[in-house]
Amino acid sequence: MTRVLVAGAGYAGVMAANRLAAAGQPDVHVTVVNPRPEFVERVRLHEHAAGGPDAKRPLSDLLRRGVRLRVGKVNAIAERSVGLEDGGSLEFDYLLYAVGSTAARGPAGSGNAWGIGDLDDAESLRRRLRLLPPGARVVVVGGGLTGIESAAEIAYRYPSLSVELVSRSVAAWLPESSRASIERRLANAGVRLRTGLRVTEVHTDGVETDAGKLASDCTVWAGSFDVPDLALRSGLPVTADGRLRTDDTLVCPGHERIVGAGDAVAPPGQAGDHLRMSCQAAMPMGAHGADTVLALIRGERPAPVSIGMAGQGISLGRRDGFIQATHRDDSPRGFTLSGRAAAVVKERVCRFTITAMRFPRAYRWLPRGTSAVHARAAIR
Ligand SMILES: Cc1cc2nc3c(=O)[nH]c(=O)nc-3n(C[C@H](O)[C@H](O)[C@H](O)COP(=O)(O)OP(=O)(O)OC[C@H]3O[C@@H](n4cnc5c(N)ncnc54)[C@H](O)[C@@H]3O)c2cc1C
Repeated sequence: MTRVLVAGAGYAGVMAANRLAAAGQPDVHVTVVNPRPEFVERVRLHEHAAGGPDAKRPLSDLLRRGVRLRVGKVNAIAERSVGLEDGGSLEFDYLLYAVGSTAARGPAGSGNAWGIGDLDDAESLRRRLRLLPPGARVVVVGGGLTGIESAAEIAYRYPSLSVELVSRSVAAWLPESSRASIERRLANAGVRLRTGLRVTEVHTDGVETDAGKLASDCTVWAGSFDVPDLALRSGLPVTADGRLRTDDTLVCPGHERIVGAGDAVAPPGQAGDHLRMSCQAAMPMGAHGADTVLALIRGERPAPVSIGMAGQGISLGRRDGFIQATHRDDSPRGFTLSGRAAAVVKERVCRFTITAMRFPRAYRWLPRGTSAVHARAAIR
């Protein structure tokens, strides 16, 4: 019997556990450890916070038969076992590290803001928004994907509120024409843009920026993502931002029984440099991580991971959206889609993530390949 322990039941962990269980090897026992008995659709947390459908579903409906679930939180990783926060421990032959990410800490006083990065934060924001009277001011801080989607969703579900998006810039990584389109669509959705500002402190009644104070009845902090410090605390090799280091097969160097997948993991060079924290990258990493574990069990050398990115889908409320097609290295291509068609595509992609986890052996993804950008650079 080989015991595989999957730490974290997000997009990477569920995909990995289901793919292992579907491999038809009765002597491979898969256990998932997760702090709650539900799967959280993090890509829908802005909808959840704004009062949309519940973003959680029972893991028992999603994990394949044969996969055991242990509700708990891993707080230390040793050579062949993990310690849990509740005092328990679990032994493993192989560990799949897939503990994902959380919202990064904000500036001083950010405890006065509501978050959006995990379910508890989104629940508490959902309760707060319901209590706000018409005309109340909601300030969303952060011009990245989470900030854009959250501001648009709140404006869509609460047209009586005054929603402002405060940031240095909006979608700064996209081409100028794409940024202009997103800004126009946010304005049409009723979001007031306040760009060129850096928030330095959050108060209970507003935010301090480098250009003065802005009043707010509810500040939403939508900054970048951070990862749990579990790998660091356990003495495993990590990058400067705390992600578990792996080789190009997703095995942790010097720890051949630990394989990583998802936001909490950093594969090297060409294998991982282009992989942004996203379920778009986490799911194929989870699937490849499962294949790596199976290869190790068979005593074979695992294959290098190869994942190509396809695009960035941004929901702007329920009736509008923006899709930026990308090269496989995640750099923008010329093609974009916007409006209702983009909203429909984005919704289908969100639904597909669940279907893909249910049918893990059929799941396929784009390989890294050679993007047009790299090919041109190589020719020059
Ligand atoms: C509002 C919002 C919108 C987003 N939209 C998109 C989008 O449109 N497209 C896209 O690609 N990405 C999107 N993302 C990002 C995407 O959700 C994440 O990149 C993705 O969830 C990462 O998957 P993961 O499996 O690595 O981690 P997660 O989904 O974060 O799952 C990690 C799991 O591990 C558990 N865990 C944590 N610590 C421990 C521990 N110590 N022991 C055991 N379990 C633990 C967590 O509770 C969680 O269940 C969005 C995120 C947010 C917040």
